[in-house]
Amino acid sequence: MLNFDHSLARALEGFYVPWQAAEPPAPKLALWNAPLAAALGLPEAEPEQYARWFSGAEAVPGSQPLALAYAGHQFGHFNPQLGDGRALLLGEVLRPDGARFDLQFKGSGPTPFSRQADGKSTLSAALREYLMSEAMAALGVPTTRSLAVVLTGEGIWRETPQPGAVLTRVAASHLRVGTFEWAAAHKGREAVEQLADYALQRHFPERLSERNRPLALLDAVCEVQAQLVAKWMNLGFIHGVMNTDNVTISGETIDYGPCAFLDAYSATQVFSSIDHNGRYAFGNQPVVCRWNLYRLASALIEAIVAVDEADNEAARLMLEQWGERYERHWIAGLRPKLGLATAEEGDLALGQTLFAALEGQGADFTRLFRALSASLSEGYGAVGAECSDPEALREWWELWQARLAREPLAIAERQAAMDAVNPVYIPRNHLTDAALKAADTGDMEPFNALLELVTHPFVQRDGMEHYAHGAPEGSPAHVTYCGT
Ligand code: AMP
Ligand code: MG
Repeated sequence: MLNFDHSLARALEGFYVPWQAAEPPAPKLALWNAPLAAALGLPEAEPEQYARWFSGAEAVPGSQPLALAYAGHQFGHFNPQLGDGRALLLGEVLRPDGARFDLQFKGSGPTPFSRQADGKSTLSAALREYLMSEAMAALGVPTTRSLAVVLTGEGIWRETPQPGAVLTRVAASHLRVGTFEWAAAHKGREAVEQLADYALQRHFPERLSERNRPLALLDAVCEVQAQLVAKWMNLGFIHGVMNTDNVTISGETIDYGPCAFLDAYSATQVFSSIDHNGRYAFGNQPVVCRWNLYRLASALIEAIVAVDEADNEAARLMLEQWGERYERHWIAGLRPKLGLATAEEGDLALGQTLFAALEGQGADFTRLFRALSASLSEGYGAVGAECSDPEALREWWELWQARLAREPLAIAERQAAMDAVNPVYIPRNHLTDAALKAADTGDMEPFNALLELVTHPFVQRDGMEHYAHGAPEGSPAHVTYCGT
């Protein structure tokens, strides 16, 4: 069976409650991620057996389920007591190569952290997370993965009755900024130090020997979060609910609730039904990421200054200069999208000018980059056709051509390099919605077709053109929901 270990349970007693999944009345496997299962070293079994294990009907051999405590700033407001209200950590699986991953159920019933809610998940929410996380993984973004979705056979009530399901999630860990906020709020400095050491050991072991370990952790998380959000921004991904309980210490994307990919580019785009002030708007994500890192710094600061009072200043500077760190990662990710194999000082401004010119043009974020590649052989018109004012990007395009003249690659090679990093297929909002609706009626065909394309996002396929287009003219605005 799986090679389980329980290092978190051993190292962080008092941070969790041992707990069991609710009994599902009639578990039935809806989705199984065979390649991921094989990579984790899971032996082959019958679908009925997977359904029983990954719904809570039968304990996964070697697992020790528990609900983790955490806190979090939700839309700017501190909630000292969140925690796994609809999730259970089964333990850590050691992959054959020694890598360690959390296995977690989502939707497995109420826990001591459920706060009146049912602890359940709808099939639709589980499938949405599966699709989004597997697409992000294929796009090269650090992310939690999805191993299985099992229908529980139970109807659960949202606005209407819906099929219930359990998602099994695989993650580098489930430590969050909110875990540190919880330790700081309830347990004090020693617990924060203990947690920081555990997090370093787990994610950044090369930094354990540093003079100030809590400071080293802060720096490491500043770095992986800068890298992560830069990737989101270069793919048009909106997380939608960047509360500190949804910000991992590992630097993986987590909690695919109200997330969505941009259709038309706009820095102010929001999809979430509850984000009335645009706190988590597309263009605000780097700003909010830094705000969240300040919350981590606040949780760590006592432990940081206990090592050396002077490191208060080091932590302050780390946060103050985080914007430049983020920009370095952002432009490093944008260069290959623009066919730039070399780096020049002016590239940052070139990138910023592109997005400024795009605002209000209704240009589809994903298609635009493929159009830029096409324009290298077809001319500017290929790009102009994506904008409501066909001349909107002309001036920028000329600047880009002048920059490309200082690049080594021939046009065909450059196009191939661009097309290898600019996806054709993303989980487009209208396609995802249609696939989830069909799945609710028992038809998994549209979902599986979409999943196949978005998990091979860079290869254009014949006859699949409609998967690479935005929503049809006149479609209603897309809205996403939390915690469904
Ligand atoms: P999320 O929106 O998934 O980041 O969840 C925020 C908090 O609400 C976490 O503590 C969750 O465990 C809790 N939560 C969300 N939905 C449910 C639910 N259906 N039942 C119990 N707790 C929930
Ligand atoms: Mg969450």
